[in-house]
Amino acid sequence: MKIGSKELSQDIIIIGAGIIGLSIAYHLLQRDPKLSITVLEKDTLLGLGSTGKCTGGINYQFRSPQLRRLSLLSREFFQTFDSVFNAPSWYKEKGYLMLVSEEELWDQLQRAAEQAVAEGIPVKIFSRQELIENFPYLHREGFGGGSLCAWDAYADPYAVQAELYSAVRRKGAEVFFDREVTKLIKNGDTIQGVEIKGEEISCGLVVNAAGPYAAHVAAMAGISLPVQPYRRQVYVCTNPKDVPKANPTIVDLASGFYMHQEASGKTVLLGGTDRETWPGLADMVDKSAAEKFFLAAMDTIPSVINVKWLRTYTGICEQTPDFHPILGYAPGLSGLFLANGFSGHGFMHAPAAGQIAADLILTGSTELIDVELFHPQRFFGNIQEPFLML
Ligand SMILES: Cc1cc2nc3c(=O)[nH]c(=O)nc-3n(C[C@H](O)[C@H](O)[C@H](O)COP(=O)(O)OP(=O)(O)OC[C@H]3O[C@@H](n4cnc5c(N)ncnc54)[C@H](O)[C@@H]3O)c2cc1C
Repeated sequence: MKIGSKELSQDIIIIGAGIIGLSIAYHLLQRDPKLSITVLEKDTLLGLGSTGKCTGGINYQFRSPQLRRLSLLSREFFQTFDSVFNAPSWYKEKGYLMLVSEEELWDQLQRAAEQAVAEGIPVKIFSRQELIENFPYLHREGFGGGSLCAWDAYADPYAVQAELYSAVRRKGAEVFFDREVTKLIKNGDTIQGVEIKGEEISCGLVVNAAGPYAAHVAAMAGISLPVQPYRRQVYVCTNPKDVPKANPTIVDLASGFYMHQEASGKTVLLGGTDRETWPGLADMVDKSAAEKFFLAAMDTIPSVINVKWLRTYTGICEQTPDFHPILGYAPGLSGLFLANGFSGHGFMHAPAAGQIAADLILTGSTELIDVELFHPQRFFGNIQEPFLML
């Protein structure tokens, strides 16, 4: 599709039609339907980026209060999605069981649970004995305790992304595929537009929502953004025989291992022990990692030894050094807004990111959260307050 003359000057251009770019477009248009917004996507189809590879997990059990707040701000969106969009997101509150073996992590888990409960989030602590009684398929010697949050949930990332895509188009935004932004047009300290395929589009504001490519896009404005892409490998397997249907997602906080059971109860997604991979955008499957992975998986759920390994895929996660997202205007520039680095939580936090970005773009401030904590400036020598880790 040729970009028509109507789009050659826009209020806002969003780079990236992933869940973050579409959520920002959606929340902006909810607030101001008159805005002219164009979303430019380099891929030829929806859902080829990180969002399409996402497991769809939604959780509240962060040690960081800022991340819990993002989950809380996103809750209503997921709960009301089916009626608002008149389409299923397959949202289901199935719980996450977080497991710990080390004393230090156990202390942190209990502290986070206490804080979450004080915020109204229903987190229940499980002693080692309670784990053995309630989850007999877990490695008996493996864990000192755990916590379960009944609000932790699943929704289908592609279903949510596709409905947001339709909704923003209904609200008047243009979304173009096969349109890679190759240059940001800069005049002094102001970003005034983008270039795609040799064509310039001017605008009042560019939003960088390029997911794993965020640093690449920021570099076009001369900014060195500390968002690094990491490959994550997912093993699709048959459900371990002793794990019941409608099981919570299991996460071993020390190793990063997780098991997400799919809705049918027949298959599971296993992953998460590949934290040591190096940054890069290559997303080829590395089958040589499988042996080490399955051995580690059996440390959590011994019956994984008998599952049938059906297939493997990879996706790219975009990570900041403190595992917290970047939301705010690019330091030292006007006309460029950054919504990047969701560090493995971009799906569950996309509704909050959209609301916060809309507030900041339309009014210059937000009362939803202390947004200074997400400001990119924290990586440029002006850290206001240290983050608690995940
Ligand atoms: C295996 C895996 C499991 C995950 N599980 C979860 C989970 O359970 N829960 C959760 O919350 N999160 C999860 N995540 C993380 C989540 O998927 C991401 O945080 C989220 O999808 C990021 O959304 P995004 O819109 O920023 O990125 P994307 O979906 O990647 O969208 C960015 C888009 O920008 C486009 N783009 C890039 N550069 C340009 C350019 N120059 N011009 C035009 N377009 C461009 C890309 O093509 C892409 O489509 C997981 C990630 C992976 C890989």
